[in-house]
Amino acid sequence: MDYSRLKSPHNPPLRIIIVGAGLGGCAAAIALHHHGHEVVAVLDKVRSFQRLGDSLGLGENAFKLLARWGCNVKEIQEIGNQAPTMKIRRWRDGKVLAEQPLMDMAGYIGHRGDYHDIFLKWVRERNILIRMGCEVTSFDDSDPTPSLTLASGEVMTADVIVAADGIKSLARHLVLGARDDPVSSGYACFRAYFEPSEEMKADPSRNAFLGGDNVNFWIGPDVHVVQNTLRGGREFNWILTHKDDGDVPESWFQPGDMDEVRRLVADLDPNIREAIKSTEKCLDWKICYRKPLPTWVSPQSHRIVLLGDSCHAHLPTSAQGASQATESAGALAVCLSLVGREEVKIATRAYEKLRFPRIRVSQRHGEDLRDRWHNALKNVEEDVEIDPEVVKIKNRPLYAFDSEQDARDRWDEVSSRVRAEFAEGKIEPLRD
Ligand SMILES: Cc1cc2nc3c(=O)[nH]c(=O)nc-3n(C[C@H](O)[C@H](O)[C@H](O)COP(=O)(O)OP(=O)(O)OC[C@H]3O[C@@H](n4cnc5c(N)ncnc54)[C@H](O)[C@@H]3O)c2cc1C
Repeated sequence: MDYSRLKSPHNPPLRIIIVGAGLGGCAAAIALHHHGHEVVAVLDKVRSFQRLGDSLGLGENAFKLLARWGCNVKEIQEIGNQAPTMKIRRWRDGKVLAEQPLMDMAGYIGHRGDYHDIFLKWVRERNILIRMGCEVTSFDDSDPTPSLTLASGEVMTADVIVAADGIKSLARHLVLGARDDPVSSGYACFRAYFEPSEEMKADPSRNAFLGGDNVNFWIGPDVHVVQNTLRGGREFNWILTHKDDGDVPESWFQPGDMDEVRRLVADLDPNIREAIKSTEKCLDWKICYRKPLPTWVSPQSHRIVLLGDSCHAHLPTSAQGASQATESAGALAVCLSLVGREEVKIATRAYEKLRFPRIRVSQRHGEDLRDRWHNALKNVEEDVEIDPEVVKIKNRPLYAFDSEQDARDRWDEVSSRVRAEFAEGKIEPLRD
């Protein structure tokens, strides 16, 4: 590996533990290491990672940072979907309503598991220890040395603990001082990912979208389907988002009811309908919301910090969950480098204030797109032309952002505000 790591401004460097070796935890490890901090370990509760999930997007905003931190982003781009454009189609007949560059949505779409493998490899290349089978069961927010306890009973201390422990974060309870239950977004996804059989490939009623790399969306009233291929057409993914006000068991693994799927796609464009209807099994993925959190930082030591889905999960229509986790990693690493060892709390509180408004913009992109898609064809006659702009994905403006530069540019203003709040003895909650 050939890149220059920055020198730590601290002597000795800050010792940091990361909880969760998902894409967010890996990005945090790489960013913090690049900025000269000492990443003691990345802990994950699972014993080994499987190829879980399906399609995930990574945008230019993330690639820019990863490349700066010495990662060969071509490794990801090469395995991402290479389709030049994506098509947004009418639910009933597949008529193309808008076509736009794939890069307008998420940059490269690839399999979450494949991208995760590469992130893990980048962490290991830096000799950062990833400890698997290490479930964190509790945190202690002692100042100035917070700690965590593993299921084995082992206690670990650090200068900073980064909790990238996902949507069901344990650390979030400590940070908020209470449990927060998921709230239904009112929607759920059925999703399936599989290698098409030879029989399917030969069947004209099911093979219309099997050739090469492609990305398509079918939009209708309160419903949409995302379909894409991966690995040059050898793998096939569909995701059906629909209204769902039922209970919210929040799970990545809940089996879906294919009869319900068949009912929902009964009037979908026949060119994709049969491919979906004949799918053997799918997952039922409730899209759970959490209201924007009032804080991402622990109340006593201010040294246990949330990052990624633990504090800023996105809707799938944002296509920015992993990219924003990467941005947060860069901002946190910069903030920690701008303070002395005794001032970590200024850095962590500045980090949440810097990141919150940006995250809300990115989250709102997903809500806006879903709402535009689900409403565009309501009460519209079949033969009426739709303005393509109404249904286009508008993520591109998000990509120019550089979260490290932003942290530096706004540091004086934001850190002064944090200092004033500490002086007054009251940290203002994050709010829109
Ligand atoms: C199984 C799964 C499938 C997904 N599928 C998709 C998908 O298809 N498309 C998509 O866009 N996004 C998907 N996502 C979400 C996407 O990965 C995230 O939005 C994004 O990568 C940011 O993730 P994160 O690292 O913040 O959280 P996560 O990816 O959820 O990672 C959190 C990590 O923390 C670990 N962890 C949790 N609690 C503890 C604990 N107490 N102790 C130690 N370790 C702990 C978990 O094992 C996990 O590895 C999926 C996530 C998961 C977990």
